[in-house]
Amino acid sequence: MTPQESSQLLADVEAFCQEIRPVEEWCYAEHKFNDQVAPLAKKHNILGTIVPRELGGRGADTVTYARALARIGREGTGVRTFFSGHTSIGEYPIMTWGSDELKKRYLPAACRGEKILAFGLTEPEAGSNPLEMQSTFERKGEQFILNGVKYLISNGGIAEAIVTFAYPKTGTKRMSAFVIDTKVPGFTSETLLAKMGMPTSNTAMFEMQNLAVPAANLLGTEGDGFRIAMGSLVSGRISVAAGSLGVIEDCLAEVINYAKERLQHGKPIAKHQLVQEHIAMIEQHRVTSERMVLWAAELKDAATASPKDAEIGKKADLAAAQTKLFVANAAWDAADRAVQVFGGRGWSTLYRPGRHLQDVRVCRIYEGTDEILKLKIAASVLGGKEWEAFK
Ligand SMILES: Cc1cc2nc3c(=O)[nH]c(=O)nc-3n(C[C@H](O)[C@H](O)[C@H](O)COP(=O)(O)OP(=O)(O)OC[C@H]3O[C@@H](n4cnc5c(N)ncnc54)[C@H](O)[C@@H]3O)c2cc1C
Repeated sequence: MTPQESSQLLADVEAFCQEIRPVEEWCYAEHKFNDQVAPLAKKHNILGTIVPRELGGRGADTVTYARALARIGREGTGVRTFFSGHTSIGEYPIMTWGSDELKKRYLPAACRGEKILAFGLTEPEAGSNPLEMQSTFERKGEQFILNGVKYLISNGGIAEAIVTFAYPKTGTKRMSAFVIDTKVPGFTSETLLAKMGMPTSNTAMFEMQNLAVPAANLLGTEGDGFRIAMGSLVSGRISVAAGSLGVIEDCLAEVINYAKERLQHGKPIAKHQLVQEHIAMIEQHRVTSERMVLWAAELKDAATASPKDAEIGKKADLAAAQTKLFVANAAWDAADRAVQVFGGRGWSTLYRPGRHLQDVRVCRIYEGTDEILKLKIAASVLGGKEWEAFK
């Protein structure tokens, strides 16, 4: 992507963010799903940022895409989660492991907003350990028949197509990855509403009951599913980290304005030293997180440029995990500090810090919990696979 294309994409993202803000504020206050995210993203042509141009996308590198997600993250973790589900773990596995035919069938439509995408790995009994999944597939002629339940899926109730995973009903226990359509017999979904945050985004569970999938909808080859799931999570983790950076940036902007205007004890609270400590720490989180997101995105771009280089692939995988762990926690702390600076008003969803605090907590859970990422980092430092604590 040229510098001009990158600036144009970021300008389009900026225009989207300005339009989505009042809608998101209203939806948040009403506790309603924000159904304008996809149409406005379509209007500004940002539904296929990383998809190659010949397939209808913008062809963004990871660094540009991370910058875009950081900007979107300022509008709220719910808005950014839509893009992570649709692009980072929806379009990404199709463009990386799909056949040419599959790419042509799904990606241009996804870029035009005709097919919203999601990624369904988690199941009621398989979260941190996806290997414990129970979904199955069986080959019948030119189709695969899928059965199983997927749980806590971002965009799962609004998607037209979902990248999902299952084990063969019989034979070797190696999972495969499929793109399933949702407007077909055998697919049902239920939106999950009892959430602690992100009321404006869609999280759902879905069931596949003898769902027939064309054989051509297999991603990679049979048995490639775990590799595809883990590979997609590198892209997904960078998206969560970049979005969390946006949360930190927004918290900083909010506390700077508020602390200068709010007077207590005869002066702006920004002049009280303990309030300045909060502001300094949010700024520290911002600077460090920005560097880490850039580092992880650059490594991901290097890995994409050299797909056969296992070493750079491993580095990109680890950097994504380290960055996601750090920035998600930094954003949680930044939102907590911003709430504190806002005092009683902070402890309210009428103001942005309170909404960020509610929403960003999930970034320490999805796409790899804090604990799982720590285990991954420790195993790597200790010397690799033989040190993995969950074995
Ligand atoms: C809003 C939201 C959106 C989501 N979106 C998606 C999505 O789009 N697609 C998708 O596939 N999934 C999605 N998820 C699911 C998410 O990835 C899982 O919730 C997450 O992986 C954790 O799994 P779990 O909830 O089953 O927790 P569990 O795996 O049951 O873990 C519970 C606790 O035990 C800890 N734990 C587990 N094993 C170990 C271990 N070996 N050592 C130490 N601690 C351990 C965990 O870290 C955690 O603290 C979403 C979740 C949420 C909340």
